[in-house]
Amino acid sequence: MVSTDIKEGGRDEIAELARRRGFLWLAFEIYGGAAGFYDYAPLGALLKRRVETAWRAFYTREGFYEIETTSVAPRDVFEASGHLESFTDRTVVCKHCKTFFRVDEGIDINKSCPECGGELEAAGEFNLMFQTRIGVPKGERGGKVLDKSEGYLRPETAQGTFLNFPRLLRFNRDKLPFGVIQIGKAYRNEISPRQSLIRLREFTIAEAEVFVYPEEKNKHPRFEEVKERKLRLVPGEGAQAQEEMEKTVEEAVRSGTIANEYLGYHIAKVDEFLEGIGIPRDKLRFRQHEPEEMAHYARDCWDAEFFSDRYAWMEIVGVADRGDYDLSSHASYSNTDMGVYPQQQSQVQAEGEAEKAKAKIIPHVIEPSYGIDRIIYALLESSFYKEQVGKEKRKVLRFKKEMAPIRAAVFPLLNRDELKRKAKEVFQDLRNEAIFVEYDDSGSIGRRYRRQDEIGTPYCVTIDYDTLEDDTVTIRERDTMKQVRVPVAEVKEVLLKGRER
Ligand code: AMP
Repeated sequence: MVSTDIKEGGRDEIAELARRRGFLWLAFEIYGGAAGFYDYAPLGALLKRRVETAWRAFYTREGFYEIETTSVAPRDVFEASGHLESFTDRTVVCKHCKTFFRVDEGIDINKSCPECGGELEAAGEFNLMFQTRIGVPKGERGGKVLDKSEGYLRPETAQGTFLNFPRLLRFNRDKLPFGVIQIGKAYRNEISPRQSLIRLREFTIAEAEVFVYPEEKNKHPRFEEVKERKLRLVPGEGAQAQEEMEKTVEEAVRSGTIANEYLGYHIAKVDEFLEGIGIPRDKLRFRQHEPEEMAHYARDCWDAEFFSDRYAWMEIVGVADRGDYDLSSHASYSNTDMGVYPQQQSQVQAEGEAEKAKAKIIPHVIEPSYGIDRIIYALLESSFYKEQVGKEKRKVLRFKKEMAPIRAAVFPLLNRDELKRKAKEVFQDLRNEAIFVEYDDSGSIGRRYRRQDEIGTPYCVTIDYDTLEDDTVTIRERDTMKQVRVPVAEVKEVLLKGRER
């Protein structure tokens, strides 16, 4: 039962470091683990929080409000959304060892079983949602009843946002466009969970739903701000299909490679966010889905893909034009009004002149959907490097300092009481300033530096005998390993802002 994914294809140094240094642990480890479930250990939980905080701040700057909806929902929701029928993966089963597999690039009926080499045969569609019960099922003794207790764990946060659309519209004073964000757990009963954080059965998703008038999709009010941004694109359909190209957002939208300004704007924002948290741009591209690959709700979809040295190109964010699919489905299934008056009319109405003649229209939705766990993996992998320093090899996680789990470590140079006392004082002062710092006095100073390099701590502050004389400390910078001498009173400033030297 123990997932072997982290050993896939030989030794996985990232997974090994993540486990050993307290980023990521196999869930239920003492019971043998279960494939597709990981726990965030202390440093991993800090890193994840930094990414989520950066994400919230990023979309708050777009003017989007956050909501938090439930992660369990009754059957009706997913019947209406199409997930019960269409949120499925095609499977094959091995005739010999009876293992089921999800059909993907490497696995199909004309290939052999990856476990035992046996022959594979088609095994139908498998729904990826986890089913559960809500309360005690109602029943009549012996009689047949319609069981209303059937529920599902959400496979995305989006549905919770759509169900609240009529109230959100009123909250936004009946005006479009507006955006709403959610961060939360999503659950998918993946058939072949593998590759640590990449295919999980419980994961964190961060989604923005942007509601817009269909006829306004080519008029994003802030398009100017992103139009010059260069994107690496792999279109899916048409003459240039699968050929990688570089275009500015504006060129891509004007030439029709990207369908509209809203989609272009949000693809650019995804690119900006990922770059901002430290994912190298040369490892990022946007690939358009082929029509047969598209989710049941999508009209158009672009994946932000990260190039992993271990797993090749993989999706980390999906940006979809969901059209009016979800709101229309919920409107008709629940018999609820999800419409808005066309824009001019709502303005005239506000002036109290118009009769409600025109029919309402259903807004369209543009949705960037971020897989936080895959982003964490991408950060770990792309930040990791090794280098020879003198006779030693050092391993480093080169996180941006805002993303690093720990901002600085404070050390006494030697294990002496007077140095320890002063170091603890400096440490406590920094903590009181809400800077996340660690104190360490165990082992040689070299070993302590190496540990901090390996967990990506940007600064180490060392207290020595000069500190006791002149109240200065050394600050060592992780990447350059350069040390500068700084008055204790300036340490905070250096840790927060860095220092050009
Ligand atoms: P989707 O709704 O399928 O486009 O998923 C949105 C994002 O969630 C993807 O871009 C992935 O980063 C992430 N994601 C989807 N499935 C999984 C999974 N099984 N494990 C981890 N992340 C996932």
